[in-house]
Formats: sequence, structure tokens, C-alpha cells
Amino acid sequence: MNILLLGSGGRESAFAWKIAQSPLCTGLFIAPGNAGTGTYGINVNLQVTDFHGIKKFVLDNSISLVVVGPEEPLVKGIYDYFKADEHLRNIPIIGPGQEGAQLEGSKNFSKAFMRRHYIPTAASSSFTKQSINDGLAYLETHKLPVVLKADGLAAGKGVVICQTQEEAQAELIAMLDGKFGEASNTVVIEEFLSGIELSVFVLTDGHSYKILPEAKDYKRVGEGDTGLNTGGMGSISPVPFASREFMQKVEDTIIKPTIGGLKIDKIHYKGFIFIGLMNVDGEPFVIEYNVRMGDPETESVMPRIESDFVELLLGVANENLAQKELVISPKTAATVMLVSSGYPGNYLKGKVISGLDNIRGSHVFHAGTTLEDSQVKTSGGRVLAVTALGDTMFDAVQQAVADAGRVYYDGRYFRADIGFDLL
Ligand code: ATP
Repeated sequence: MNILLLGSGGRESAFAWKIAQSPLCTGLFIAPGNAGTGTYGINVNLQVTDFHGIKKFVLDNSISLVVVGPEEPLVKGIYDYFKADEHLRNIPIIGPGQEGAQLEGSKNFSKAFMRRHYIPTAASSSFTKQSINDGLAYLETHKLPVVLKADGLAAGKGVVICQTQEEAQAELIAMLDGKFGEASNTVVIEEFLSGIELSVFVLTDGHSYKILPEAKDYKRVGEGDTGLNTGGMGSISPVPFASREFMQKVEDTIIKPTIGGLKIDKIHYKGFIFIGLMNVDGEPFVIEYNVRMGDPETESVMPRIESDFVELLLGVANENLAQKELVISPKTAATVMLVSSGYPGNYLKGKVISGLDNIRGSHVFHAGTTLEDSQVKTSGGRVLAVTALGDTMFDAVQQAVADAGRVYYDGRYFRADIGFDLL
């Protein structure tokens, strides 16, 4: 079967690596891909939101499964585009329709969804420019710190945690004044939750679901969790505090009502649900939903899945996921992200990457890389994800960090303390 995978990051490299291992996959195409995905399949020069281009490619190349990596095409309605087209209608696409994608695309929508279905989450209220005075009054009695969130997609920057009344009031005014463009036309004011974060991943065909390996990601740029927030500097899977008892609570109070809620709301959802949650004294609360896998969590999650991943995706497509087997490795995966110096601020691109042949026991997933004049060069802030599997977390972290150090490019930076807080 020919499979088209949309995206170009480390997440898509991990997907491509796993999909290419399946005997069911006879042709894998990645659009647009990166310098690494070209080793698992064929890179195609198409942007993920070029729906017309994707249609032509799918039909010209007898694609029979489309896997969507990032959220943007989902929020822009690629699923609905396929379903509305008589030639594409029967070609399965992994990812929700535009309505389901609102779980990520609108925090106001996802908060209302959670309230409606009694899913534990931080208490909140939403305000627009018309209700700004109510919002300011709401803040006056709110305990501190308080969390302000732009409703729409804001490239991971739309969440501000305010420590004082004045800061919160100024932030609310700035957001409703267009600080994040249309994304902050509505602002969610939310209670601050104190605890440890965890990423839980669910694959669903709309009826049943499989819980994929959970992971913890490291968002801050600096060691010891300091400095600016990034797309993610590393990840660990499994997570020690995600005990059987805790995960049972997650399944009963979050996953089941989420899948059930989608059905009740008549939202047909086939794809991944990424639940960002906070463990508050042993109780799980949803911080956010994403409608795709996480990055760099996928780079730790995929190596722990022992089953044929394409079988699972076909289970989603054919709505018989319940009959598919999901075998998860008991090993620990540790991922260390190599980034460009300056990231998440300004950074240079086009630096030649060397040392990729020196990697000993890890697997390198390319993220922001490109092939130029037969040389692999940096092309983004997050450049490479180095993942190691180990019998213990210590082994995995040690291997991944050692291998990260074997790769070199001008301005290379990585955190050598991924997982240390869990050891
Ligand atoms: P992402 O880049 O993770 O998609 P996002 O812009 O969708 O981010 P959220 O995930 O909702 O926003 O929030 C970003 C981060 O802010 C969270 O990972 C968490 O660390 C922090 N955060 C969000 N909501 C809360 C809360 N209610 N209490 C404490 N921290 C929070």
C-alpha cells in the first residue's frame, strides 16, 4: 500500500521510521519531509496546507492512506476537504475533521467540551472585547497566579502565567487588543494548577481507543528547567509517576469521557488525541488537548511500540481498532533534542552537520535539516532528535546524551539533563 505522510519535523521522522518497517507499506511518501525522512521513503515537495496539490499527488500515486502529522492542516479542514471530494472520499485520512480539531484550535471550545462532559480541568471563564469589563472584574477576585490563554493557535506562545493583578489586567487588555491577532479575540482566564505535567496519547477510530505510551517532555530551553519555553528539548517514556493506578484514573475520568463526549456531540473523530495533563497530588487534570501527536514525545513513543503501526492506523481507518493488538516495550526511551544556538529566539541556519556516522546505540530522527549539495545542513531551531532505548532510564539517558555529543554543527546546543528530575 502507498502511504502519504504530511509534515517535516522530528515527529514525522519518527512516524516515517515506524511506518516504513511495516510489511503493509510498499511505498512511503513524505510531504515535504526533511533530510532524514528521505531515508525511509520519498520526499515530496508539497506544503501540508496545499490541499489541491495533495489531492493531485494522492490520485496520481495511488495513495491509499494519508497520515497527518501537524495540527495546521487539520484545523484548516483537510479531513473535510477529502470527505467532500468524490475522488478522495474513500481514501482514509488519519486525523479529525475541522470540528474535532477545534479541541486544539480553540481553547474556548475545548474548555466548554470538558465542562459539558465533566472532564477534570482547571476552572475557567472566557471573555471577548465586548465583555472586557467583566473580565477585569473577574480578575480582581481571582487568586494568583492566574493563567491567561489566547483562544486560538498562537504557535505555543499564547499562554501567559501572571503573578500579579496588574500584570494580569494589562495582559488581558493587550490580548483582547490583538496581541496574538485573531487568536486572542477571545481569552480564557484559568485557575493555576500546581503539579507535574504528563503527555498522554490516545489513538481512536471514533468508537474504541488504544492508549499509546505516555511521555514527559522538557519545554524549557535551559538545564534545570530554566529559560524560555520551546517546542520541546527532549522527552522520556515511560514516566515513573504514571503508575497503573494513576493511568487508570486518567482512563476513567479523562479518556473514556473524551471519546464518549465526542460521540455524544456527534463529532466523528479518527486519529490521535494528545492529552496534556497535570498531576495535582495524584489527581489528573486536563491542561490542553492536541489533535495530533507531540514533538518530541513521538520520538520516544514510536520506538516503544512493538506492534505494526500501519495495522493500527488501518484499524482507525476501518473502525476496527478494537481488534488490533498494541504491544508496548517495557524499555525506557530517552530523546535529546539538538537545537540551533539562539533558539527559541533568532538562530542561524545552513550549518553543515557532521558526526552522524559516529552514533553508537541511539537512533537519530531528523527535524530541522535539509540536504544541500549532498551535505546535511541545519534548517530550523530544532535540528535533530537523538533517541536511545535502555533497560533503565539511566541507561537510556546516558546513551542518548553521549550520542548527542557525537554530532556536531556550528551553534549546536542540547540539554544534557533530560530525565534527571525523574531519576
Ligand atoms: P503548547 O505549545 O503546549 O501546545 P499551548 O499554547 O497550546 O501550548 P497550553 O498547553 O494550554 O498552551 O499551555 C502551555 C503551558 O502552560 C502548559 O504546558 C503548562 O506548562 C502551562 N499551563 C497551561 N495552563 C496551566 C494551568 N492552568 N496551570 C498551570 N500551568 C498551566
